[in-house]
Formats: sequence, C-alpha cells, structure tokens
Amino acid sequence: MKLKVDENLCIGCGACEAVCKQCFRINDEEGVAEVIVKEIPKELEKSAIDAKEGCPAQAIIEVNDKKEN
Ligand code: SF4
Repeated sequence: MKLKVDENLCIGCGACEAVCKQCFRINDEEGVAEVIVKEIPKELEKSAIDAKEGCPAQAIIEVNDKKEN
C-alpha cells in the first residue's frame, strides 16, 4: 500500500504523525505532513489506515499504481 499527503488539503495538525510516526512526519518548513516511506510496510498498514481515516482534512490519499502485466 502506498499513501501520499495532499499538501493543499493538509492543515498540519500532526494527528497522522501522532498515530503512525513511522509513516508520517510534519515537514517543518512547509508545515504539512509527508509520507516518509515509499511503501507502507505490512505491519504498519493498520496504524497508517487509522491515520488516514483519522485525518480531519482527508488529506491522506491512497496511491494506486498497480500495473497490470
Ligand atoms: Fe495533515 Fe491530515 Fe496529517 Fe493532520 S492528519 S497533519 S491534516 S495529513
């Protein structure tokens, strides 16, 4: 699973970082959150999804880049 933060929606509340600091970090320069892992590790998926669902701005978006081959 891949996630990204829409910086236009993020209000920089820090909730996602509080829920899953292994996956999200507030970028101090920009004041918005960013996803710090390329792919969410299996063992962190549950807390990453909790963070996604708990985001008050719905700024955390799942990236679907599955390629068919
Ligand atoms: Fe931004 Fe949502 Fe994280 Fe708050 S919970 S910092 S609004 S991405």
